[in-house]
Amino acid sequence: MSKNKSSESVKVVVRCRPLNRKEESNGSAEGIVQMDLRLGQVVLRNPRAPPSEPLKTFTFDAVYDANSKQRDLYDESVRPLIDSVLAGFNGTIFAYGQTGTGKTYTMQGAWLDPEKRGVIPNAFDHIFTHISRSQSDKQYLVRASYLEIYREEIRDLLDPNHGSAKALELRESPETGVYVRDLTSCVCKSVKEIEEVMNVGNQARAVGATDMNEHSSRSHALFLITVECSQPGPDGRKHIRVGRLNLVDLAGSERQAKTGVRGERLKEAAKINLSLSALGNVISALADGRSGHVPYRDSKLTRLLQDSLGGNARTVMVATLGPAPQHYDETLTTLRYANRAKNIQNQPRVNEDPKDALLREFQREIARLRAQLNHRKGRSKHKKEDMDGEGWERDGDEDTEGDDEVEKEAREYVKQEEQRLEREKEAIREDRFLLAEEKQRLLGEKERMMGDLRKEQEATEQLTAKYKAMESKLLVGGKNIIDHTNEQQKMLEIKRQEIAEQTRKEREMQQQMLVQDEETLELRETFTSLQQEVEAKTKKLKKYLKLYAKLQCIKAEIQDVNDEHVRSRQELEQTQNELTRELKFKYLIIENFIPPEEKNKIMNRLTFDPEEDQWKFQPLVPAESKFSQMKKRPASAVGYKRPISQYARVAIAMGPHSRYRAENIMFLELDMTPPTSVSLDRSSEVECNQSPSADSSPTKDRASRVRKSRSWCQAPKNITSSSSNMSLAACHTAAPAAAQ
Ligand code: ADP
Ligand code: MG
Repeated sequence: MSKNKSSESVKVVVRCRPLNRKEESNGSAEGIVQMDLRLGQVVLRNPRAPPSEPLKTFTFDAVYDANSKQRDLYDESVRPLIDSVLAGFNGTIFAYGQTGTGKTYTMQGAWLDPEKRGVIPNAFDHIFTHISRSQSDKQYLVRASYLEIYREEIRDLLDPNHGSAKALELRESPETGVYVRDLTSCVCKSVKEIEEVMNVGNQARAVGATDMNEHSSRSHALFLITVECSQPGPDGRKHIRVGRLNLVDLAGSERQAKTGVRGERLKEAAKINLSLSALGNVISALADGRSGHVPYRDSKLTRLLQDSLGGNARTVMVATLGPAPQHYDETLTTLRYANRAKNIQNQPRVNEDPKDALLREFQREIARLRAQLNHRKGRSKHKKEDMDGEGWERDGDEDTEGDDEVEKEAREYVKQEEQRLEREKEAIREDRFLLAEEKQRLLGEKERMMGDLRKEQEATEQLTAKYKAMESKLLVGGKNIIDHTNEQQKMLEIKRQEIAEQTRKEREMQQQMLVQDEETLELRETFTSLQQEVEAKTKKLKKYLKLYAKLQCIKAEIQDVNDEHVRSRQELEQTQNELTRELKFKYLIIENFIPPEEKNKIMNRLTFDPEEDQWKFQPLVPAESKFSQMKKRPASAVGYKRPISQYARVAIAMGPHSRYRAENIMFLELDMTPPTSVSLDRSSEVECNQSPSADSSPTKDRASRVRKSRSWCQAPKNITSSSSNMSLAACHTAAPAAAQ
């Protein structure tokens, strides 16, 4: 990647935790990790290799050993990043490493112990202290969100229905980049409030998991803080800067053992590996800089961190290690990962006046409410003036009046008005010259006036409450948001920052000197005598020997990397085999148990959603035409029931019969006689049967009866069915013929 003026590399620091009791009891009293804090170097010893094998050395921006303090890591490596977030840059801190190496300890730590508070609580303190100490012309708005990615699904940890809620979707906008749609965000006014938000999220995380450790090592947790700051610029207008901070605790980087894993667990393992391996691929692609394509879209995690890796953000990666010999492979992988990440170049820039700044909306809304309140205030003043018949003079401008005073005045005014109306009502009641009707009307009118007055008062109170609530969310610089630390403590903090800065600079210089030493060695070589020449040649030889050792190291490293690739390929093949088996099993079920037409129906409804990276069902009715296309249920004729089958009629008449409950047997009573035939007299019926128009063959007779019985049970009473009409008409025509 080409380095341009504004680009800077991702800061990578490494932290190694102390040996735990279990590891000590296993006999690994001596760890395999050694650190040079001054040079920022990690030296790793392979416990399985012969002692002659060279040690592996990696250099980072800073390293923290088992004795390191949370505060040191924060002051040296995190504080500058939070400062730039407060200045309007995007910033990301992510902890990467094997489960149990101290990612959560580094990010969160033990909240109650000031010595053990991690990056997140320290950042909370830092942000709100900064706001309280900034100039009073600055206004701030701080928001927090908390989400986790579990099995490639984004879950909102601040949503009260966290467990049952749908997974959230990722969206992209040219303004803010990639963001999570519908993610809850809480406006926080103090450290206490933001800590509360964190606690709510942590509880949701714990509830969602059967085994907290298991769950947390398999999910990625992202705590997002947005700090918006408005300050008047030289042009007199208020300018807004927005800094976004992502605090990320990643899932454990160890390989999930896949042998024998089936079903849900297999999918889970594959998906965790997907996010982390996608992260690895993104880091490799960015670090090597040759490949134009960076596979951000391969996983949710990489899309969310797109800005932080190779984008518009400052990024710190904390790689955590365990010192135990049994985790040598994982430790080496983590170090390699971290080493690659060092080469990523970001282009951080200040987010100035973005269109979607919430602070701007807040300011507009507050101004609108203020105007409304002033308007109301003016109205009641006028009324009062009209009522008193005298000027309601007051010193000072309306806007400069204290809000509390205004409220008190408004309340006073309402009280006086109520008393006046009461008095007037009393006067009307006692007036003997008024008619009863007139009295009633006047009293009603006064009552209505009082009602209006109360409504107006309520509306004003609601408006005031809303205004106050909105205004209280904006933090103004210089105000006592958290308890002001005394001057001495302030100085102490500044000194500590200075020391941290000094240490960092010193380390950078040492590292540079080391590189320069090797480069300038040759320049100093001038031979004045044979003796010197011998010395020089010996030095050169030593240098070549050094180079040779380096070559051997690199060769060994290449071998290591190859081995690792072979291992991961084998694992991937294993996963593939398992997934193929599962797929074959599912195919077998589909082929043998699902009717082809059902299968085709389902297949036709499936579409692939590239955003979500999964197959989805199309709705049966297209969403936009849901109402227009849906057919209406036909209305039944007035006073007439809907058609009902013969079988259902019989079933209703007979009540539940055990026979019909078990078997769905159609019962056809073909010999039902229609009630219309009852009204005909015997002779005409005989005539009718004998008439040439009526067929007397038994089959035809039965068929016509069936038709009759159907029409009898289906047609409305006042409309005679065509078949009955026919037979009746036949009878009518036959009867006079017989009479003749
Ligand atoms: P991870 O989140 O990486 O799975 P944890 O942060 O839960 O690991 O750490 C595992 C254990 O190790 C915890 O009990 C934690 O207190 C301890 N631990 C981790 N790092 C340190 C450290 N630097 N100093 C002391 N204890 C640590
Ligand atoms: Mg953890």
